[in-house]
Amino acid sequence: MLDLLIINGSCPDYEAGEMVQKNIGLKDGKIAWMGAAGAELPEAAEVIDAAGKVVSPGFIDIHMHEEKFLTEGKDYSISQMMLDMGVTTAVGGNCGEQYQRMSEFKAVLEDLGGAPVNYVMLAGYNTFRVKMGIGRYEHATQEQMEELKKSIQEELAEGAWGFSFGIEYDPGITYEEMLFACGASDNPNHLVSAHYRADCIDDIASIDEMVKLSAAIPQKFQISHLSSCSAIGQMQPSLDCINKAMETNPKLNYDTYPYNAFSTTMGSAVFEDGCLDAWKKDYDSILLTDDPYKNVYCTEEIFKKARAEYPDMLAVAFVMNEEEIAAAIANKNGMVASDGIINNGNGHPRAAGTFPRVLGKYVREDKVVSMVDALRKMTYEPAKRLGLEAVKGQLSVGADGDIVIFDPQTIIDKADFAHLEGPVGIEYVLIGGQKAIAEGKKINDRLGRFMPFEQ
Ligand SMILES: [Zn+2]
Repeated sequence: MLDLLIINGSCPDYEAGEMVQKNIGLKDGKIAWMGAAGAELPEAAEVIDAAGKVVSPGFIDIHMHEEKFLTEGKDYSISQMMLDMGVTTAVGGNCGEQYQRMSEFKAVLEDLGGAPVNYVMLAGYNTFRVKMGIGRYEHATQEQMEELKKSIQEELAEGAWGFSFGIEYDPGITYEEMLFACGASDNPNHLVSAHYRADCIDDIASIDEMVKLSAAIPQKFQISHLSSCSAIGQMQPSLDCINKAMETNPKLNYDTYPYNAFSTTMGSAVFEDGCLDAWKKDYDSILLTDDPYKNVYCTEEIFKKARAEYPDMLAVAFVMNEEEIAAAIANKNGMVASDGIINNGNGHPRAAGTFPRVLGKYVREDKVVSMVDALRKMTYEPAKRLGLEAVKGQLSVGADGDIVIFDPQTIIDKADFAHLEGPVGIEYVLIGGQKAIAEGKKINDRLGRFMPFEQ
């Protein structure tokens, strides 16, 4: 007898490229049976009738930023938000930032008896660079590069899935330095991601650098949060460049998020002199998120003061163009990812709304992408990136029971820049066949595990 049957739901069929009505049976944490509409149903201990709902593989967030256990305490914040929006597996350690060593991260998850979602981690290159005292604009010496490579290798040995660069944050990182660091592994299944060098007028040169690096290294390579760097007038040439490169280099891809504002810390090199001119925006396009400037839009004076005195404060910059955000989501390549980052409970709403926002705004309201393509970009594509497509990212017999059931008529994000409210429309989330969310309520936030790289 099956543990659970989910009947009458509309499911993505990625091979056919359409939504198809199917019935799904789960047993022992996995999908054990699938049948077309009208097929005779096997016996099950429990049945969920998903008529009128979408039944999708759990969302896989290929780009987010994990909890800061060392500085903010041993508790979950961002992964709770991930679960609330239907994510079942999330990838932390992006943009070169890693908030604690892999061993420390694993130990806390163990202590807490699991996590709200499954966690994949990358090693953050910049974190090690900063720890070694290498200045942001300084080039690393040969000796320092050797040591950085060793640190990355230590994290890979602890289960990291790959590593990440945040080039814009430490402009001293050269192409040669990255190429050298990529020598930390020769495994084609490792994932390397990069927040690229510069946005706006330097954008295409930055993408060229990423395309070149991707072609020169053995690992898979992900251009991070394309919209935050390219949706300032450069999206179409950026997409053309990436699409063309992907024709000959399938190891390359990108992710993007559905908001026209990005967020980063005030001390970041992103906010260097001249940034506003380059974005063609004024100081009041920058919103601060923490005391003493919580929810305050900058003036020149506040901007300079916040940058000097509160370099770790998160700021939100409303500088991107909506049509370009939509183009990055609708493009034939690419994935949807949150780039979620939370500081003491505050941050950009993408951490709490990305996936429902794509399904509500870009699929249902604006119709810039079909339901099946949007779901593919948040399930199957990221699963392939991680080499997990046999067990995650699609509904097939033998796959893990990581499933989200949502109402396509109502799903939408509710978080804004003042309140990180959860979305509406998510009815069930299953992780490993067990209910994390049932009838819209969270009932178990410890079903996720640290997933070490084992390929
Ligand atoms: Zn980034």
